[in-house]
Amino acid sequence: MRSGSRHAVVIGGSIAGLLAAHVLKDHADSVTVVERDRYPDGPRHRAGVPQDRHAHIFLEGGVRALEDLLPGLPDELVEHGSPRLGMPADFVQWQGGQWFRRTPASTHVLTGSRPLTDWLVRRRVLADARVTVLEETEVTGLTGDAARVRGVRVRRRGARQETRTLDAGLVVDASGRSTRAPAWLRAIGAEPPREETIDSGLAYATRFWAAGTNTDLSFRAVYLAIDGRHPRGGLLLPVEGDRWIALLSGFRGHEPPTDEQGYLDFAATLPDPVMREWLDRAEPLTAIHGFRGLANVRRRYDRPGRRPAGFLATGEALCAFNPAYGQGMSVAALCAVALRDALDDGRRTPTTRRVQRALADATRQAWDISSGADRVVPGVTGNAVRPRVIDRPAAWYLNRVLERLPRNPLVGDTFRKVGSLAAPATAFFAPRVAREVLFTPVPASPSAPPLLPESAESAESAESAGRTRRAGRTGRAGKTGSAGSTEARR
Ligand SMILES: Cc1cc2nc3c(=O)[nH]c(=O)nc-3n(C[C@H](O)[C@H](O)[C@H](O)COP(=O)(O)OP(=O)(O)OC[C@H]3O[C@@H](n4cnc5c(N)ncnc54)[C@H](O)[C@@H]3O)c2cc1C
Repeated sequence: MRSGSRHAVVIGGSIAGLLAAHVLKDHADSVTVVERDRYPDGPRHRAGVPQDRHAHIFLEGGVRALEDLLPGLPDELVEHGSPRLGMPADFVQWQGGQWFRRTPASTHVLTGSRPLTDWLVRRRVLADARVTVLEETEVTGLTGDAARVRGVRVRRRGARQETRTLDAGLVVDASGRSTRAPAWLRAIGAEPPREETIDSGLAYATRFWAAGTNTDLSFRAVYLAIDGRHPRGGLLLPVEGDRWIALLSGFRGHEPPTDEQGYLDFAATLPDPVMREWLDRAEPLTAIHGFRGLANVRRRYDRPGRRPAGFLATGEALCAFNPAYGQGMSVAALCAVALRDALDDGRRTPTTRRVQRALADATRQAWDISSGADRVVPGVTGNAVRPRVIDRPAAWYLNRVLERLPRNPLVGDTFRKVGSLAAPATAFFAPRVAREVLFTPVPASPSAPPLLPESAESAESAESAGRTRRAGRTGRAGKTGSAGSTEARR
């Protein structure tokens, strides 16, 4: 930030905006967060974040970033009841036509509700006097010109005319996927970013449940994954307060209904009845909420263009994802870490362009994951769906990863670390992993869901059976055996 004006304005006081404000307070005299909503005084739904009625997984990479920014906050989430689930052990997971082995956990996710996460982040960030928030106030435009943004225009929510300006040396847009910043930039004579979209037509239908008579289960989550070949999916997760969240999803043409019977009927069309059977024994706690409009949208602020100094975009205002991969909150946290590191970097002047590039870099891995998976969904639309030259060999390799990940612990662990943004995608090419991906056969998959986790010993013996079988295949001594155990259905 230039040293001229030492006031920063953040547009939007949700997770990306609050984490950005938390970072900026160390680089400015004061930070004002402008938020359209009035905040609830606890972990409750709010209109500006309509998605908070749906499952919100916090991935391991994002949790680490959150801990880095707000030490102790992940533990606070757990203390307030957010379940911490281990993958793959706690999940009954079906993906790409295969059931996953439930070997001991190597990656963890938090599954507390979104209102809980928002409340705890908000409480911590706003406890610092250097950050103030203007609630029930809406940004309506930018001030300044194509060379430099000098602040924002705001009005009290609901008021038609009454507009005032807030001067600032830096304005950060964190107003989410429906940001109006491109139009605001155009209005001051600057160039809006090019927008890339990939839209699978994904839709969600979600309901909170009490477990009812589902009391003797040996799993903590069910995940029936949606993908290009399987256009319907389901996710069952525990949240705080002894509640569960059941999410049904479908690509275009397979949108889950939000009426009682339609919802249950849709659950019965999933690849396995495990989720429908759970719902039959559970008690609904809320209405069923739908969500549509879940395209991947990337705004290329990192590309050259006539854009003003003093303006940055972060969170979903910068890059919004198909939420099926659970990345958005994690990317908001990774963006805040990138913002901090770029501003702290004593070796380089933190120009707007340089900092914005760092923010874009923080979104890249998540974008590659969700856009790569969605490009192959039948009927996908958007201006960025055409595969690039690099995509063909990458898809060939990734396909081998996907075939092996449910039953091969090393490939599975690597996939989970990369998918949860806790390791770079290059981890797939580490020699040990590449050997498994390129030279081992596809392990056999059981036909029924593994309802019990594997112990460390059984996982090891199954793995060594797999290794022996591979040795047999490569002509060394050994007998063939089955990789992995399949527990009987209850
Ligand atoms: C159905 C669904 C499920 C999801 N599941 C997951 C998941 O499992 N895991 C995960 O990590 N992510 C998930 N996401 C993504 C996650 O919700 C977003 O990535 C995250 O909320 C983005 O945070 P943000 O702060 O950028 O924007 P938002 O959370 O959308 O917040 C934008 C804020 O800006 C305010 N605002 C907007 N315009 C103005 C204005 N003009 N003036 C003032 N204030 C304004 C709004 O009131 C709001 O507070 C999901 C998203 C959806 C839609």
